[in-house]
Amino acid sequence: MDKTFDQQHPPDLHQMEITEDQCRDCNAPMKIAIGLMGGSFYGPERFTDQEIQFAKSKGVCLENKFSKTVDKTYLANICPKCGSFIGAFFVHDYLYCGKIYDIA
Ligand SMILES: [Zn+2]
Repeated sequence: MDKTFDQQHPPDLHQMEITEDQCRDCNAPMKIAIGLMGGSFYGPERFTDQEIQFAKSKGVCLENKFSKTVDKTYLANICPKCGSFIGAFFVHDYLYCGKIYDIA
């Protein structure tokens, strides 16, 4: 982990990034929430209730989706129009291109 990243993300900082993008399937606008804590990031599959509420308050659509890739159902960022979701392995594509909020 490089020094710049450490400085920007102190270990005790709890944040959420919300990136506005378009659905890959139907091109409708959608928001993607990513949790940031302790210098690492995670998708909605690891969100706490607090994080889920925060994301929803910012207009992010989250829903439990079944992923064939991992053969599991998990909470994911979804397109509000067609229900297409961002898989856990693709969340990092949206890292650091949105707006970052502090979570108390
Ligand atoms: Zn869509």
